[in-house]
Amino acid sequence: MLGTILHGPGDVRCEELPEPTLLHPTDAIVRLSATCICGSDLWPYRGLNEVTSPRAMGHEYCGIVEAVGDAVTTIRPGQFVVGSFCLSDNTCPHCHNGFQSSCEQREFMTGAQAPLARVPLADGTLVATAERPPDDLIPSLLAASDVLGTGWYAADAARVRPGSTVVVVGDGAVGLMGVLAAKQMGAERIIAMSRHKSRQDLALEFGATDIIAERGDAGVARIKELTRRIGADSVLECVGTRESMMQAIQCARPGAMVGYVGVPHGVELDGQWLFFSQVGLLGGPAPVRRFLPHLMDLILKREINPGKVFDLTLPLADVAEGYRAMDERRAIKTLLRL
Ligand SMILES: [Zn+2]
Repeated sequence: MLGTILHGPGDVRCEELPEPTLLHPTDAIVRLSATCICGSDLWPYRGLNEVTSPRAMGHEYCGIVEAVGDAVTTIRPGQFVVGSFCLSDNTCPHCHNGFQSSCEQREFMTGAQAPLARVPLADGTLVATAERPPDDLIPSLLAASDVLGTGWYAADAARVRPGSTVVVVGDGAVGLMGVLAAKQMGAERIIAMSRHKSRQDLALEFGATDIIAERGDAGVARIKELTRRIGADSVLECVGTRESMMQAIQCARPGAMVGYVGVPHGVELDGQWLFFSQVGLLGGPAPVRRFLPHLMDLILKREINPGKVFDLTLPLADVAEGYRAMDERRAIKTLLRL
C-alpha cells in the first residue's frame, strides 16, 4: 500500500509500505475512509521537532474495521469507527477520570496517512457507530478524531459556560473548532483572534461574535476594550508559542481559566507574574476519547459541521503538496482521499 513517511524537514513522501498486521491481541486493523494532515505534523515537517529516522505520519482516522485481535471484545470487523489520536485502555484510573490522554497504557497513534492503519488498544480507543454513516459526514467524523476533540477540550478545560465571554487565541483548525465548541457550550460572546480573511469568515460561521486582528499587547488592549476592562471568563490557547500563551493569560480575567492545547514550544512563564494573574491553566493532549460519543452524535444528527475546516482535498499520492499548502498557510487543513 502507499503510505506517508517523513524523512526529514520538508521531506515528506508517499511511498510503498507493507500493510499493517495485528501485532497484539488488543489491536484492530482499520481501512480508513479518509485521512488528513494535522497542524502538529508541521512541527517535525518544519524541523522544530527533530526527525532522526524516517517516521510514519498520520494520527487522525476513521473507517471500517477489517480485523481485530483475539482480546478485542467490543469492536468487530465491518463496523465504522472513529478513534482518538491518543490510544487508551479506557479502564485505568486516569481514563475513569476522563483523562484518557494520560492513560497508564497511553500510546500515540502513528501511520494513519495511509489506507490501512493498526490501532492498538482497540476496545478502549475506538467508538463505533450503529450503522455506516453517509459519505458526506466522513470529513466531520474524521475531524472528531483530533482537531474537533482538541478544540472541544480547550473549551471544556477553559470552563466555557452558557453566557460566558470567550477568547480564542489562534485561527488554525483547532482554534476554529474551539469557536465551534464554545458556541455549542452556550457562550454568549466569542472573540476570535485572527488576521486572515478566510479564517475570520469561518470563525464567524462557526459562531464567533467578534474578530480581533491585532496581536500581542495591541490584541490584549482590544480584548480589554471589548470586555469593559474585565477580561474574558474563558480563554482557549490554540497555538503553543510564547507570544500566544502570554496573550491568552493576559486576556483572562482574574478567576478565569485558560484551556491550552497548542503544544508549547519555547513557552516559559514567570512564577510571580502567574501568581498575580490569578488565572487557572489546564491543558495538555486532549482526552478526545471522553468527548467522542457526544461529538459523533452531534455530527450524525447534523447539528455541527466541523468538516468545513477542511479547505483543501487531495489524493494521498499528493500528500507532499498538502503539507506545503498548510506550511505556507495556503490551506487551513488538508483532507487526503484514499
Ligand atoms: Zn487508561
